[in-house]
Amino acid sequence: MQNVVILGSGCAGNTAAIYTSRASLNPLVISGHEPGGQLSLTTEVENFPGFVEGVMGPELVENMRKQAERFGATFRSGTVTEVDLSKRPFRLAVDGEWIETQSLIVATGASARWLGLPEEKKFVGRGYSSCATCDGFFYRGKEIMVIGGGDSAMEEANFLTKFGRRVRLVHRREEFRASKIMLQRVLENPKIEVMTNKVIEAIQGTEDGVVASVSLKDTVTGTTSICEVDGLFVAIGHVPNTKIFKGQLDLDEDGYIVSHGGARTNIEGVFHAGDVQDRVYRQAITAAGAGCMAAIEVERWLGAQGIH
Ligand code: NAP
Repeated sequence: MQNVVILGSGCAGNTAAIYTSRASLNPLVISGHEPGGQLSLTTEVENFPGFVEGVMGPELVENMRKQAERFGATFRSGTVTEVDLSKRPFRLAVDGEWIETQSLIVATGASARWLGLPEEKKFVGRGYSSCATCDGFFYRGKEIMVIGGGDSAMEEANFLTKFGRRVRLVHRREEFRASKIMLQRVLENPKIEVMTNKVIEAIQGTEDGVVASVSLKDTVTGTTSICEVDGLFVAIGHVPNTKIFKGQLDLDEDGYIVSHGGARTNIEGVFHAGDVQDRVYRQAITAAGAGCMAAIEVERWLGAQGIH
């Protein structure tokens, strides 16, 4: 029987592990299908406070893990495939084995939606990114392309004009899902070139394996052209990792956990942390802060139950 199980080992989960282990709760962290979370997919992180020269994303999240382990947190690789939150103790199936816990912190994050091209994985962090805030800086004076037609794509395209010599915004349709005001800002920005009815068919790399160009297909004419690009950013939405909680935790229409105040979910003893609930900020530092909040709430809640 665990005091607290933390699902997810990104910034939110690892910070929750640091705080709960320092509170002598001996947390068990289930690392999940993407150990280290989204930070493990980025290169240099330059906006995490305290790192004057920046820090590599995988190193930052690995250090958080080591810090939690130092205070007694246990990390277990594996994925939770089923949960029973109908009564306490809660039950979780980790790769087929059931474990029980008095409390739970859900920090399963959200995964960026990628284009789904067979070659794309090898370009992630090598010119292909899902986070303009994280990686935009590396494309100063370069050719940038943003894919998407929603608010995220508009926001990222505008933001990236600070760096790129030009930003091409590529959308698969004529109409935009983005709000009028965000779209207007893009249309009025002289550094952005909007390309509609275009889909990316393939990404080509340099000899060093860095993005060099994309094949763009025009969905109206059917013609394909090659477009040179240094920084390719997808902004086609995120998918919160909440499938296993459907029907148990309150989720909004897109699958994000609905907060019931602070880090609380609709189920007493189950708390949320990070991108699994946050569709707005989605930063390493905000996820870390949310992990801290969830840990403090767990500690207080367990204390109130007389469990610890
Ligand atoms: P979104 O609104 O779901 O838009 C996703 C966009 O990506 C759509 O234009 C969609 O095209 C396109 N897309 C999806 N799959 C694609 C694929 N495989 N290939 C090419 N294009 C694809 O997602 P979002 O922009 O991340 O926004 C999510 C939510 O956050 C929204 O509610 C948004 O308003 C909010 N948000 C708000 C702000 C803000 O107010 N500052 C900033 C960012 C996000 P189709 O339109 O053809 O489906």
